[in-house]
Amino acid sequence: MAKVSINLATGSIQKEDIIVGIDLGTTNSLVAFINPDKDPLVINDAGKGVLVPSVVHFGPTGEVLVGNEAKEFLITDPQNTVFSVKRLLGRSYHDIENYKDFFSYKVIDDDTESLVKIKVGDKFYTPIELSALILKELKARAEHALKTPVNRAVITVPAYFNDSQRQATRDAGKLAGLDVLRIVNEPTAASLAYGIGLNPDETKTIAVYDLGGGTFDVSILQIQNGIFEVLATNGDTFLGGDDFDRIIVDYWIEKNQLNKADVIANNELAQQLRLKAEEAKKSFSHQSLFNEKIGDIWCTLDRADFEQLILPKVQQTITCCQNALKDAKLTTADIDEVIMVGGSTRTALVKKMVSEFFARPVHDDVNPDEVVALGAAIQADILAGNRKDILLLDVTPLSLGIETMGGLMDVIIPRNSKVPTKGGRQYTTSIDGQVNMKIAVYQGERDLIKENRKLAEFNLKGIPSMPAGFPKVDINFLLNADGILTIQAIELRSGVKQEVEVKPTYGITDEQVEQMLMDSITHAKDDISQRMIIEARTEGEQTIYTVENFLRKHGSHITAEETEKTNEHLVVLKEAIASGDKDQILKRIDEINEFTRPFAERLMDEAIATAMRGKSIE
Ligand code: ADP
Ligand code: MG
Repeated sequence: MAKVSINLATGSIQKEDIIVGIDLGTTNSLVAFINPDKDPLVINDAGKGVLVPSVVHFGPTGEVLVGNEAKEFLITDPQNTVFSVKRLLGRSYHDIENYKDFFSYKVIDDDTESLVKIKVGDKFYTPIELSALILKELKARAEHALKTPVNRAVITVPAYFNDSQRQATRDAGKLAGLDVLRIVNEPTAASLAYGIGLNPDETKTIAVYDLGGGTFDVSILQIQNGIFEVLATNGDTFLGGDDFDRIIVDYWIEKNQLNKADVIANNELAQQLRLKAEEAKKSFSHQSLFNEKIGDIWCTLDRADFEQLILPKVQQTITCCQNALKDAKLTTADIDEVIMVGGSTRTALVKKMVSEFFARPVHDDVNPDEVVALGAAIQADILAGNRKDILLLDVTPLSLGIETMGGLMDVIIPRNSKVPTKGGRQYTTSIDGQVNMKIAVYQGERDLIKENRKLAEFNLKGIPSMPAGFPKVDINFLLNADGILTIQAIELRSGVKQEVEVKPTYGITDEQVEQMLMDSITHAKDDISQRMIIEARTEGEQTIYTVENFLRKHGSHITAEETEKTNEHLVVLKEAIASGDKDQILKRIDEINEFTRPFAERLMDEAIATAMRGKSIE
């Protein structure tokens, strides 16, 4: 038995390189990877810190700064400093017009339906380009810290991101020189970081509560067979830790009897107060009183007062949790695990209220602003095939089949079959004495193989010479739990056998699968009519082959006139095939069959008569 191995990649052998996980956040972004000990780790390049503020600054001569250095310019050079670009990714001006005042930089509204652009100086940037600058910085940091090129990544997005936002994220990755292997939902990544969902046998319903800098969302996920399904999401895209900071600033303005308008007018003071407020907020993670001064302004606050101040905001997030559960048609009793994500969940009151609402302890031991990136790194490791114990799919997303006559797809394992699974069918040759059979394996939902994705092709060689239709070639597909497809072809009369192994999911993204499914729906009608034409044509060609064969072998048994008439029939059938008119082809096939049927009968009679005379037929 010959064993052919096919490399499905672009032909070259895939060098084992690192795949990173990236959390591209509204406030902060970061990158993580899996170290050789299999632990997910965040990257802290040259002690610059793990979190890279998602801020881009453009200097007067075009130099670009990303991260902490750029963040400083939010105060001194707001027009040329872009923050929160994630809010604009994949959005049209129409989507954001209600909150355009939120941005201190210029968001362009040339056409309300097309995607927004941002003007900095005299240049226009798309949110994709700006996000790419952040991703490039993360890529550079990872490469510097790991001392190896980083070209492939998994990037996370909020569960509520639509297709356009996901595509924009993917494009940003591409622009940053990254091959984005997968876009993963942030709650899914967070769950993986806690090891929830890694066991394909467990079924769980979880809530992921994510309170970041400027946004809040809660997702209810169902995990089954290693597949994460978003049952509901809820949230508020303008509610986050920044609100806590603003509330503290307002409180200090009041306590110091300052005029709020004066403070706002004094940009520097306003920003100083904001930073001090954030410092105070964070300090409550380890102390209960904050007491500092800016000039002669007292910045004093204790934790109890802080909690009192932010209570209404936290209450708002709990209402979102309630709504999410309602949408998912569940109650808190149905939730098996609650996961805390986002820097703002370090706030004790937040943890307390979430835990009380769900009536169970929450998962908070993984750093909440790192948990998404860590989970993305785990997902990357799974995609790299380094975790053999984990199933990536439990159903095959696309049908698997082979090419048959006329370039048609013959499905052997239909889509959505549970793996492991097998399927098979018997084929035969179409030409007399055919000793090789090409077996081309495809994946996809279209009727024509040229619209599907080719996985492999091989030749079953050494079929003994037999008339067309005699060999029996069994083709069996076996799809194992890892998604590896083994294709086996055996000619039953001779025992000639060949086997090929391929990985159908290799190099194919969820989006591509989706696209292929979408295409099969949009083109279903065309496909059916095309399939019918091809089938008619194939049948026509088979008929021509058989009839010509008959004339060659048994021409002497029919009259010259019959031969001439038969040839005329062949000509019109060939014309019909060339015209591609299905009905014409079928009509001509019927005619020629009708005309030649008596020949075969006569031949049979003659053969019998000959045999009765005691002579053998040739
Ligand atoms: P995003 O996902 O929106 O990019 P992050 O998850 O990085 O945001 O969260 C950033 C927010 O977390 C900021 O508002 C920051 O002030 C807040 N934060 C960070 N550490 C703490 C802490 N110890 N206590 C309270 N809030 C914190
Ligand atoms: Mg986040």
